[in-house]
Amino acid sequence: KERTLAMIKPDGVSGNYTEEIKRLIVEAGFNIVKEKLTQLDKEAASAFYDEHSSRSFFPHLVSYMTSGPVVVMVLEKGDAVSDWRGLIGPTDAQKAKISHPHSIRALCGKDSQRNCVHGSDSTSSAEREIHFFFKDVVSG
Ligand code: ATP
Repeated sequence: KERTLAMIKPDGVSGNYTEEIKRLIVEAGFNIVKEKLTQLDKEAASAFYDEHSSRSFFPHLVSYMTSGPVVVMVLEKGDAVSDWRGLIGPTDAQKAKISHPHSIRALCGKDSQRNCVHGSDSTSSAEREIHFFFKDVVSG
């Protein structure tokens, strides 16, 4: 089985979507292996999104991601990485509402930044991100 890192971002948590998202996760056949509520500081959010550090939206991304607590989870199933990306839908929640109306971002996202959830984009980033939040979990 494969593992991926899922995150409910600050807008998802403050909008009270945590329980509904977890229900969708379990219904889709994922096993929630690990879970924690945490608050990212500026340093952690910057490190987590380091690949975007040169983008113009980066400062906004960091302040969004530090604006409140997040829920991070390790999800497990066959094809966990691509299946979770499929369930959350496209990055831009406005587009998700049109093209993927049953996706999680269509459910609780607002726009291309405030899109309420995160999912690792590959098995290697899943491994990095799981270690980032759960240093005691061996992935893969
Ligand atoms: P994530 O990595 O959070 O799962 P993603 O892989 O769908 O999202 P990325 O392109 O990796 O999207 O962007 C990371 C995050 O940066 C997005 O989820 C969003 O919150 C923010 N972001 C991306 N593009 C923009 C943009 N054009 N304007 C503002 N914020 C953006």
